[in-house]
Amino acid sequence: MKSDHSKRGIQTQAIHAGEEPDPVTGASVPNLVMSSTFVVDQEISFSANNLSDESPFVYTRWSNPTTQQLEEKLAVLEQAEACVVFASGMAATASVLLNHLSKGDHLIISNTNYPGTAEFARDTLTRFGIEVTPVDSSEIDNIGNAVQDNTRMIWIETPSNPLLRITDIKATAAIARKQNALLVVDSTFATPIATRPLQFGADLVVHSLTKYIGGHGDAMGGSVCGKQLLIGPLRGEALVHYGGVISPFNAWLILRGMATLPIRMRCHAENALALAGFLEGHSSVEKVFYPGLKSHPQHDLASAQMDNFSGMVAFRCSKPKPTAERMMQKLEVIHYAVSLGHHRSLVYLMQTRDLIDSSYRLEGRELDKYRDSAGEGIFRLSVGIEDASDLIADLERVL
Ligand SMILES: *Cc1c(COP(=O)(O)O)cnc(C)c1O
Repeated sequence: MKSDHSKRGIQTQAIHAGEEPDPVTGASVPNLVMSSTFVVDQEISFSANNLSDESPFVYTRWSNPTTQQLEEKLAVLEQAEACVVFASGMAATASVLLNHLSKGDHLIISNTNYPGTAEFARDTLTRFGIEVTPVDSSEIDNIGNAVQDNTRMIWIETPSNPLLRITDIKATAAIARKQNALLVVDSTFATPIATRPLQFGADLVVHSLTKYIGGHGDAMGGSVCGKQLLIGPLRGEALVHYGGVISPFNAWLILRGMATLPIRMRCHAENALALAGFLEGHSSVEKVFYPGLKSHPQHDLASAQMDNFSGMVAFRCSKPKPTAERMMQKLEVIHYAVSLGHHRSLVYLMQTRDLIDSSYRLEGRELDKYRDSAGEGIFRLSVGIEDASDLIADLERVL
C-alpha cells in the first residue's frame, strides 16, 4: 500500500510523495531504472490505444518506474488527479496544444509569454488551420472580448515572461467554463509552492521542469497536471506518438531536485525581494518589475493567487547594451545566461526588437504598452539562492 501524502504539508510532500522504499532491496532513495523495455509475463497489446493505468511497464516511451515516481510527486504538489512528464517544457507545451486543438478550433493566448510557446502558437498551430488570438491576458476583459464560437482553449502564462504580468486565473477560468473551453496555465514562474492553478479552476497546468522544479540547471523536463480524463489522452497520443519522452536519468535528477523546492522557493523569494529593493533604489535603474513589490501594478492580484512571489525580477536600465557588455565581462557570481529557476543566479538582456520581431509581433497599443515597460530591452534576472549581499555586490559592479 502506498502512503497517501495528499493531506500532508508541502515540505513533506516534496520529499516523500511518489517515493516508497524499494520493496526488494529496501533502498530508501528511488531506483534509477534506465531500461527501455520490460520483461512481461502476460500478453500485452502492442497499441498504445489500449494503455490503461493498470498496464504493467512495457516500454519506456509509454511509462517508466522512475518517471512515474516523478509524475506522482508532481500530481500531489499540484493537487491534481494525474500528471504526465515530457522531455522538456516545450515538448509538454506542444503536446497539450496539438493534442487538444484541431483544425477550425480557436485558441486565445497571452500575447507576451515564453518565446518558444509564442512562436509555436503563431507559426505552427496556424499552419494546421487553428486560429490563434494573442491578447494581453493581464487585462481580463481582453480575454472575454476575444472569445468566439469556436474557442476551444485559453492559454495563459502567469507570471509571464519577461514583464512578470499577472493573469487572474479564477476570472479566466470562469470565462473558459462558460465557453466550454479548456484553461491551460503555464505556471513555470510560479511553481506549485506559489500557486496551484487547478484550485482556481484551471484544467491543465504546464511546467518546464528545467527551471525551478528541477532547480539545479542540470536536467530538462516538462510536465502537465490535471484530471485523468485529460492526461490519459495526452499520454496515449502525445507522449507515445509524438515521442517527447524524458530520460529516466533526467527524471531522477528532477525528482531529487524537487525535494528541496519549498525551501529553495522561500530563499528565491527572499533574495528577489532584497534585490528588487536594491534595484529600485539604484540611480541607473529606470524600472523594476517584481510581483512582490508594492510598486508592481498587479501586486494585489499577485498576493491573492501567489503564496510566494518567486525569484524572477525584471529591470530596465537607461543604456541596456553597454550594461549587458559589462555584465558579460565583470559579473563574478551571477552568470550571464538564458534560462531561469536554478540555484545559481542568471541574468540576460531580452532585447525588445528581437522579441517583438520574432516572437510577439505586437502592433499599435499593445506595442506601445510593451515599449513603455521594456524600452529597448529588459534584463531578466533569475535570482538564485546565493547570499543576497554577494548578488547585490555583483550588480553594483556592473550598473
Ligand atoms: C523554459 C520555459 C518553457 C520551455 O521549457 P523547456 O524546458 O526549456 O523546453 C516554457 N514556459 C516557460 C514559462 C519557460 O520558462
